[in-house]
Amino acid sequence: MSRTKIAELLRTEPTGTEVLVKGWVKAFRNNQFIALNDGSCAANIQVVVDHENTDPALLDRIKFGAAIGARGALIESQGKGQKVEIKASEIIIYGDCNPEEYPLQPKKQTLEYLREIAHLRFRTNTFGAVFRVRHALAYAIHKFFNDRGFYYLHTPVITASDAEGAGEMFRVTTLDLDKLPRTEGGEIDFDQDFFRRPTNLTVSGQLEAELGAMALGEVYTFGPTFRAENSNTTRHLAEFWMIEPEVAFNDLVDNMDLAEDMLRYVIGYALEHCADDLKILEERLVEEEKSKPQDQRSEMALTDKLRFVIDNRFERLTYTEAIDILKNSNPNKKGKFQFPVEGWGTDLQSEHERYLVEKHFKKPVILTNYPAAIKAFYMRQDEPKEGVPGPTVSAMDILFPGIGEIVGGSQREERLERLVQRMRDMHIPEAELYWYLDTRRFGSCPHAGFGLGFERLVLFVTGMTNIRDVIAFPRYPGNAEF
Ligand code: ATP
Ligand code: MN
Repeated sequence: MSRTKIAELLRTEPTGTEVLVKGWVKAFRNNQFIALNDGSCAANIQVVVDHENTDPALLDRIKFGAAIGARGALIESQGKGQKVEIKASEIIIYGDCNPEEYPLQPKKQTLEYLREIAHLRFRTNTFGAVFRVRHALAYAIHKFFNDRGFYYLHTPVITASDAEGAGEMFRVTTLDLDKLPRTEGGEIDFDQDFFRRPTNLTVSGQLEAELGAMALGEVYTFGPTFRAENSNTTRHLAEFWMIEPEVAFNDLVDNMDLAEDMLRYVIGYALEHCADDLKILEERLVEEEKSKPQDQRSEMALTDKLRFVIDNRFERLTYTEAIDILKNSNPNKKGKFQFPVEGWGTDLQSEHERYLVEKHFKKPVILTNYPAAIKAFYMRQDEPKEGVPGPTVSAMDILFPGIGEIVGGSQREERLERLVQRMRDMHIPEAELYWYLDTRRFGSCPHAGFGLGFERLVLFVTGMTNIRDVIAFPRYPGNAEF
């Protein structure tokens, strides 16, 4: 007899047929009622043990966390809260779980503690929900792009280009760090390294995705990216997953439309397919916020917030317009910002982004046309515009409540001369990026794309508050455990 998953059993009519379930014990009440979970859904199934006809030694081994199987009739539940239950005729113990030693306990444990035992935290209700939602979002992203005719492109994880400027990189080498080979001039001799040149873990697949888009038309990447930035925040990881669509013939407006459609679609997908898990996460968030002062609590419940994002167009405005709003804002005038907004040209701090999203517009915001000086070399240069103090590029950042930047993108500079000039100004080695420039030399065309940080999306949808809690084994400064 093969096992049936609990998700399926809970959808089945109680006909008394014999079934077999396997899972982990969540609770065992009155030496009779087992709450069993197998990860297929948030809910447990109730297994009723016939304690009079079961060996007491076996009953003794039904402990929180133990892996067991139960065979028996699927019947209408006598108790409240569930439609069906299993009247067990046989219990099988697969793995005992000694409660004296088990680091998990059947009570609330802090997220900080659970992070230290990340190898076991999947077993909690919260993390079960988080990882089921994470899966659904990943699937929805692939579905969104596939349904629209995009091709999934796998860009390299190891790259030789260090010219992208997106962040600090991790070096990849097979050289013996204890005795690095040196050239006669005393430099490290990379000729003896595996790739015969310095290599790094990628910080973005965008440049390679652009190459694909120049023939396949619409592509996207979805892979791990690495940044050795020493930012110990609740929104940065050293290893994170990024989705990067790149589309030939798209301009900035098309790019914003695509990003907005994608976010709406995947959030809607989660609402539709993860209702039980989102309910658990919504309740968790309410509990967490009880410890906060009233004015710092969310105004909306988690699922209301998700629905709100789907139902309302994002606010679109230029960087220049945003600076005006921020300059004249109350917190700026009253000196409440840690970084006062003085003028045009500086990068926005997270407190400014959050003011725009959470206080001023009260919805997701897309900021466009940033000053060229604070954006990457490949972004398309705008024509000068009245009222805009300096040169800008066709960039767009999407800002989300509680998260800040969730998407960063742009229309790309497709004009060879202007791109080369910009690279020279920014001291970006042209020779090294000859392959990138070739796309502008041969059949160049307008195109645009963006990067969505997957964990920031998962953070938003699950209502978790630390990015380290939405990836299975987070990598951050000082931590590469598991
Ligand atoms: P931030 O200003 O928040 O550091 P960024 O400007 O460095 O972001 P991009 O280089 O534009 O970000 O990367 C695209 C997207 O990748 C961001 O919008 C964000 O969602 C995500 N992202 C960037 N850095 C990280 C990180 N260290 N950990 C997790 N996600 C990240
Ligand atoms: Mn960054």
